[in-house]
Amino acid sequence: MSTATTKPLSLLVTGTIGIDTVETPTARAERVLGGSAAYFAAAASRLAPVRLVGVVGDDLPAHHRTILEGLKGVDLGGLETRNGGKTFAWGGKYLLNLNERETLFTELGVVADAPPQVPASFADSELVFLGNTHPAVQAGLLEQVSGRKLVVADTMDLWINIAHDDLVHLLSKVDGIVLNDSEAAQLTGVRNAITAGRRILGYGPQFAVVKKGEHGAVLVHRDGVAVVPAFPAEEDMVVDPTGAGDTFAGGFMAHLARTGRTDFETLQTALSWGTVMASFTIGAFSLDGVARASADQLAERYSRFARHARV
Ligand code: AMP
Repeated sequence: MSTATTKPLSLLVTGTIGIDTVETPTARAERVLGGSAAYFAAAASRLAPVRLVGVVGDDLPAHHRTILEGLKGVDLGGLETRNGGKTFAWGGKYLLNLNERETLFTELGVVADAPPQVPASFADSELVFLGNTHPAVQAGLLEQVSGRKLVVADTMDLWINIAHDDLVHLLSKVDGIVLNDSEAAQLTGVRNAITAGRRILGYGPQFAVVKKGEHGAVLVHRDGVAVVPAFPAEEDMVVDPTGAGDTFAGGFMAHLARTGRTDFETLQTALSWGTVMASFTIGAFSLDGVARASADQLAERYSRFARHARV
């Protein structure tokens, strides 16, 4: 797409809105609000308006809905509630180092039924983020957004294992992909994150963002390669890493949306905004860390990060 414009771009996210139960070595959160789209929207909306498309059951606790409704800048016009349906629920447990986690359960609920519909009023969205779900569903959702100019997808090991061909087909239709280093290795058979990223470009996208947890992220783009460290978080800054990946993506995409640009340099800066959003997310359970940070705290952390990472 052209990068000459500086008009903000509209942003849409699809993904899960879920009920999470999370155990860390020192604490536990029971049935708190989570899900890929909820985390993404909470982070993105700190920088730019975001339209959310997703589906929940009528069992979604009222206080979770109230939290979603309280996210300023999130348009819930694409949030569908299915009567009699069960909301997506996920349980995870972190190991001592807080870097590795085990999934205890995944209850797809309404997410296993028909995918949500993109409302007609959202079809003109210019930037689209396809949160983690079956790649065939992601492909169906993107077709519904006729105004799309840049589409970025997330994926995970499960789909690489059970829906490899659908994922390869999806890659031929998107502009960018965000995945972690073990997933990139699994998809390409290559352990080196940069070489794996280049292989992924061979499937069609313009760029791949390969996340390396506490070691930061790499952007492999047709126009170049960029690296970003993780925020240098001390032990007491990390309460619950859940949602770090989704809020990274939210900060990344929202920076593109607000600048109206998608060139390599803008993507490189967007990596840092993603990192800053993730650093707030890990400081509390659920969406609290990223949703409650003040605008001044966000700006202060961005400049602190820029100082830390300066070369
Ligand atoms: P992250 O820590 O960024 O990987 O995101 C964790 C969030 O993703 C949690 O809030 C979960 O509810 C959600 N999640 C976990 N597994 C899945 C899945 N298979 N599909 C979609 N969302 C998921």
